[in-house]
Order: sequence, then C-alpha cells, then structure tokens
Amino acid sequence: MKLTILGCSGSIPGPDAPASGYLVESGGTRILLDLGNGTLGTLQRFVDPFTPDALLLSHLHPDHCADFGALTVLRRYHPAPPYDPAERKLPVHAPAEAPERLAALYAPNAAERAGADLSDVFEFAPVPESPLRLGPFEITAFPVHHVCPSWGFRIAAEGRVLAYTADTGPCEELTELARDADVLLAEASWPDSPERPDGLHLSGKQAAELANRASARRLLLTHLQPWCDDAEILAEAREHTTVPTELVTTAARYAV
Ligand SMILES: [Zn+2]
Ligand SMILES: [Zn+2]
Repeated sequence: MKLTILGCSGSIPGPDAPASGYLVESGGTRILLDLGNGTLGTLQRFVDPFTPDALLLSHLHPDHCADFGALTVLRRYHPAPPYDPAERKLPVHAPAEAPERLAALYAPNAAERAGADLSDVFEFAPVPESPLRLGPFEITAFPVHHVCPSWGFRIAAEGRVLAYTADTGPCEELTELARDADVLLAEASWPDSPERPDGLHLSGKQAAELANRASARRLLLTHLQPWCDDAEILAEAREHTTVPTELVTTAARYAV
C-alpha cells in the first residue's frame, strides 16, 4: 500500500503546502482521502486526476473539501477525458450533507444554487457504517470528535493498515481506529497547552500518546497549522513516544 501526501497544512493552506489531502494506492486501485485547497494540483504531479476509484471526505470543512469544486470542473469540462465521467461516476463517500453543500460550493450564483446537482459526474454515498470493500481495500470509518461530524478512516490492504485520524480532539474511538496500525497518519495541529479547546484538534503530545495507546508502528504527523512551529510540535511528539515519528511534507510518498 502506498501513501502520497497531496497536502498537509492544517486549517488553511500554508506557504509550502496545500491543505489536507492524501492518495492511497494498492494493486492499481486508488483512493483519495480528503481534497483540501490545492490538493488537486499535487495529485496531477503523480497520476491522471481521472484515475482515482473513490473519494472519501472525512468532514466538510473547506481545508478538507475545497478542491471538490475544482474536481467538478475537471470532470465536467475536460475536453478529452480518458473515459466518459457521466458513464463512470466517481463514488464519493462523505457526510450526509455533502451533495447539497458541495453543490453550493460549486454553484456560480445563488439562483443556480437551488436545484444544483452534481450527480451527473459523481455518485454520492454516506460515510459507510460497516467496513467498505473497494478493490483490495477494506475501509472502516470511525466517528471522531470535532466541531462538526467528522470520521477517521482505518484502511487495510495487503495485510497492512493505514489509520487516518482526520480532524479530531482526543477520543476513545481513535484507539480502535489506530490499533496496531503500521502507519498512523495523525493530525497534530498545535503544540500542547491547557488553553487549547477540547474536542477540536490533537497536539503533538496527544498524537504521540495515541500512537502509544494503540501500539502503532510508525507515526506521521500532519495538519500542522501554518501559524504554529512545526519543529516544536515534532519535538513534543518525540518526547512522548518511542514510536518512530516524523512530519509529513507535500508530495512525500510512503510505503505503508
Ligand atoms: Zn482541518
Ligand atoms: Zn476540521
């Protein structure tokens, strides 16, 4: 299983990174995990952007789905697509409000927003409640704790496991999500501080504690907010775990 970082900046794009988005590949099947601002650009460095077999959206904050509008333009108006996007619609597993919210994101004006419908090139489905089989992948969604409905994903293939926390504060569900994961891709938005709000994001320390609790084998830190000090977050995480820990960077690729 291969993981490619399309963007890793937390909450907004940063000077050197788009917002959140990841490409996961196994045996010729490709899954997009989130599609934040700028990630559709990075995707084109690696693969034809028509080739992913499904898109999973963890939640509907713009830093995780803003490029959906761009993907709509691509699928509707590319002059020479490799297949007919109306015949082969892209499955989109996303929170229940997604069809309406993403149509509003795309609509050019309020009048056309009403009745806007993206089902000509996408096939929407809710975040799966039971494990979803997709080619070689088995994907299990876990509800996590954020300011809006948000799901982390445990993705298994080839006998390996990638666990992605999405945006979340500390919660019990994360331990099961990340249990014995070969790679734990955890958000670490900020340095630890008692003044941080609950149920919103993880600190570097909290991501490290999760890796310990779940017995993860490798910890990749992502969603670092551009106004925080990356080095401080990494040092803090390493101080609290012996699990090998690093910061991801845009366009980095990992064998899971
Ligand atoms: Zn976010
Ligand atoms: Zn969020």
